[in-house]
Amino acid sequence: MIDYDDDNIFSKILKGEIPCDKVYEDENILCFKDINPIAKIHVLIIPKEKYVSFNDFVINAGEKKISYFFKTVEKIAKKLNIIESGYRIITNHGMDANQEVPHFHLHLLGKENLGGIKYK
Ligand code: AMP
Repeated sequence: MIDYDDDNIFSKILKGEIPCDKVYEDENILCFKDINPIAKIHVLIIPKEKYVSFNDFVINAGEKKISYFFKTVEKIAKKLNIIESGYRIITNHGMDANQEVPHFHLHLLGKENLGGIKYK
């Protein structure tokens, strides 16, 4: 796995060096709108700690933090009022997934019919 790059764009957002359109924040987690949305709701949910990707997070974060993270994803979906209508969660790990930003994040999409999963 690659080393964490402190200059990645989400690290800069966490350090307050560049702005974001914040949706939710607590001590451990930040959620903000994706700058290039592909659905009516498209937010990114990130842990504040440094993990390169989902893989890094599940291997190294420990049960409590992993559980807290996913419970908070549900809390954010509730806050965005998309539990009933439905939502999609995506996370890209590594090269084949074309992960652009090397700080673990989930994409949470909703508020419209998202169609099927297409990858090409
Ligand atoms: P991924 O390919 O999973 O690494 O996705 C990275 C996502 O970050 C893309 O959907 C981008 O549109 C989004 N993104 C990049 N820079 C920013 C930014 N400054 N603020 C919000 N979203 C961003």
